[in-house]
Amino acid sequence: MEARINTSWSFCKLLSMRNQAASIFAFGTQSIKDIWHHIRNKDDKVTWHKLFWLPLHVPKYNIITWMAFLDRLPTKDRLIRMGFNIDGICVLCNEEMETRDHLFLHCTVANSVWSSVLNLNGICRGTCSWSARISWAFASWKGKSLLTAIMKLAWTTFTYIIWEERNKRIYQRRSRNVNALLLAIKDSVGIQLKSREINRNDYVNSALCIQWGY
Ligand SMILES: [Zn+2]
Repeated sequence: MEARINTSWSFCKLLSMRNQAASIFAFGTQSIKDIWHHIRNKDDKVTWHKLFWLPLHVPKYNIITWMAFLDRLPTKDRLIRMGFNIDGICVLCNEEMETRDHLFLHCTVANSVWSSVLNLNGICRGTCSWSARISWAFASWKGKSLLTAIMKLAWTTFTYIIWEERNKRIYQRRSRNVNALLLAIKDSVGIQLKSREINRNDYVNSALCIQWGY
């Protein structure tokens, strides 16, 4: 298979790493952790593992760019479709297959964190499909209100923290509970809001500031 003009950066990278991937298959890896260690031990200069991490500096990215990043994440279902012989179970809930939609929408752990984030903003919504989430985001997160700014930051930070947590559990065997994940999101959103001028006389804004501890 050859890369085309519209082939994504990460997929081009994968195509260019086929020889290395072949050596990993030959090694007989059984889990993502094995693959990780094999890549890391074999050649520290290999950049392949960078695909497993989301870029830092979350706020630099707008929602469309961010959704595109999420579309390309090497979730377990994608790795299995690429031929890796790994277990496909989500490490957050240990119940269902890890897919993009499961990890960020349907997983009981992630869902519980996202519901708490929405609660802070006085919003109550059930789970929905990926496309419904995107439509909702574009329909509601408009204008320059504090609520819109927080929702955008909260969504990118939430997905960032969930992916980070997933990687920590797989590669470092460390885990945080729902409260700790929520706290990490609140901290990060709070830091990103620091430079913003806020009209606290507005009752919606003042309620948001209280909820987000800002
Ligand atoms: Zn799950």
